[in-house]
Amino acid sequence: GKPRVVVVGGGAGGATAARYITKDSDGAIDVTLVEPTRAYYTCFFSNLYIGGFRELSSIGHSYGTLASDYGVNVVHDWAVGIDRDAKTVSLAGGATLPYDRLILSPGIDFVEGAVPGWDVSQQNKMPHAYKAGSQTELLKAQIEAMPEGGLYAMVAPPNPYRCPPGPYERISMVAHLLTQINPTAKILIADPKAKFSKQALFEEGWQKHYGGMIERIGPDFGGQNVSVNPDEMTVDIDGAVEAVDVCNVIPAQKAGRICDMAGITEGNWAPVVPATMQSRLDENIHVLGDATNQGDMPKSGYSANSQAKVAAMAVRGALTGSKVFPAKFSNTCWSLIDTDDGVKVGASYQATDEKIAKVDGFISQTGEDTDLRKATYEESLGWYAGITEDMFG
Ligand code: FAD
Repeated sequence: GKPRVVVVGGGAGGATAARYITKDSDGAIDVTLVEPTRAYYTCFFSNLYIGGFRELSSIGHSYGTLASDYGVNVVHDWAVGIDRDAKTVSLAGGATLPYDRLILSPGIDFVEGAVPGWDVSQQNKMPHAYKAGSQTELLKAQIEAMPEGGLYAMVAPPNPYRCPPGPYERISMVAHLLTQINPTAKILIADPKAKFSKQALFEEGWQKHYGGMIERIGPDFGGQNVSVNPDEMTVDIDGAVEAVDVCNVIPAQKAGRICDMAGITEGNWAPVVPATMQSRLDENIHVLGDATNQGDMPKSGYSANSQAKVAAMAVRGALTGSKVFPAKFSNTCWSLIDTDDGVKVGASYQATDEKIAKVDGFISQTGEDTDLRKATYEESLGWYAGITEDMFG
């Protein structure tokens, strides 16, 4: 029969890989995509929903076109086990799927105990909103329900985590919303990192648009020494206990747990061979996106999409003998600070034996004029339309 590929996870990495393998192999490869949710909400632009710039429905996508137009066999279920010797994936529903190549793109899970007092059973009291959908909706509703002059706190994650500018774009969007509905409210960030992505750009923007609203406590002042009490709605930062109205806890992260179950992680992440995105521990498994330890690329949707195209080419080459070109990768992370005030950071990358290595990069500058910032924001709208088309057809 035809060679079989199973893809676990229908997000930025997995959906792209499933689409590119079917699209480019003209029916020569059977592709099954395993994804529990029928509607995938992108984390990208979920902050813009919080800020009031997008409807929630505009960031939800379904898998219908992958099935109807590309012939991807879409299975809505959880992968719960991988037998690497038998080369099979078992599903929560009881089915077993055989594969010649397996692609894992499960995104992230949270490191247990990373923020004392918090675990996923508390995520309704203190949302992470770091997997999009109901968590994002809940966080926004909590912000809208804050008392006048209330306090929103964020516990920011340590490196490495998905979307390096994501927490700070979120702060910008929360500030934008509060400026409209609750202008005397305050925002407090407890941050274990000495510095963060696009810091000078965010700090300039916060001063310009939201002066006096945002306070960040970094590691010099105990920002890494944080615990929470979801029942009391308090945050303890280095011994100082604050009562908060909303607490957005973004814990430390690790590869989606199916990677651990497959036995392909070292520490928190799955190491990969850059040229093909194959696991360093099993050549029949490719790993994409946030779950990987690959080198210089940030954990972003753009990166996962870029890595998926490299893996799709390598898988087709291995299974059908099609031509394989040298791997090239790229990434840009846009962030919206306020209306029409967009900034970006990005780079191109190549595969070395050791890692995905940065070739050259660019970043927005402080003091840019409003036309350029507006153009940067508009570029991000084009990118969103493009990547979701690239993932879902
Ligand atoms: P995901 O896209 O998370 O996909 C993983 C999928 O796997 C999920 O659908 C999940 O249901 C499924 N899954 C997990 N385990 C299993 C299992 N056992 N069986 C079956 N399915 C499973 N990136 C950008 O490029 N630009 C941005 O502007 C941007 N903004 C962001 C803002 C926020 C607030 C956040 C949180 C992230 C942002 N990102 C952005 C990052 C981006 O969302 C992730 O890097 C990207 O989604 C990673 O793709 P992935 O395929 O690794 O994982």
